[in-house]
Amino acid sequence: MTDAADAAESARRSSGADDTRIGEAGSAGGGANGARLESARRSSGADGTRIGEAGSAGGGAEGTRLEPQESAAGAPFWAASRERRLALPWCRACDRPHWFPRDFCPHCLGDELEWREASGRGVVYAVSVMPKPANPAMAGRAPYAVALVELAEGVRMMSEVTGCPPDEVSVDLAVRVRWEPLSDGRHLPVFEPDR
Ligand SMILES: [Zn+2]
Repeated sequence: MTDAADAAESARRSSGADDTRIGEAGSAGGGANGARLESARRSSGADGTRIGEAGSAGGGAEGTRLEPQESAAGAPFWAASRERRLALPWCRACDRPHWFPRDFCPHCLGDELEWREASGRGVVYAVSVMPKPANPAMAGRAPYAVALVELAEGVRMMSEVTGCPPDEVSVDLAVRVRWEPLSDGRHLPVFEPDR
């Protein structure tokens, strides 16, 4: 097993800080922490969520993506995903976005939130190539690049970068969102190089 895989495995097992896990993605025991990514260039402050390997408990045929559960706070995100729109929660008090969805603003604790459409563009903040699937549901996709993407709006979102060989995904690579359909009409945002 490579160092990267070791790091990812231990991150998964420890299931620590909840603030890097993407909203409702992942349930029991999941949560590869962006700040722990082997190749993360900075060590703290990850505010993303994980999308790529959404879910950890539960079924899913091999090679089929697990489908994230919806939380009340994240419902507007998933509603927008049905139209392939990337929506972010913004605080009306301090006029800042945040990720993941929650009932109050993590910056000022204000609870007057609204959802605004995001550009869908960003850059790779950190990336780790998974030579083996961290989740059996990802078996058909390995090797794949799990990345913490910093959106143009400033929030960081854990996802997957597709559309190029995983080892070509590097820090600062410009990416844009691409939507993968889920079985219930929602879509899962992943990213691809923005060329
Ligand atoms: Zn605020």
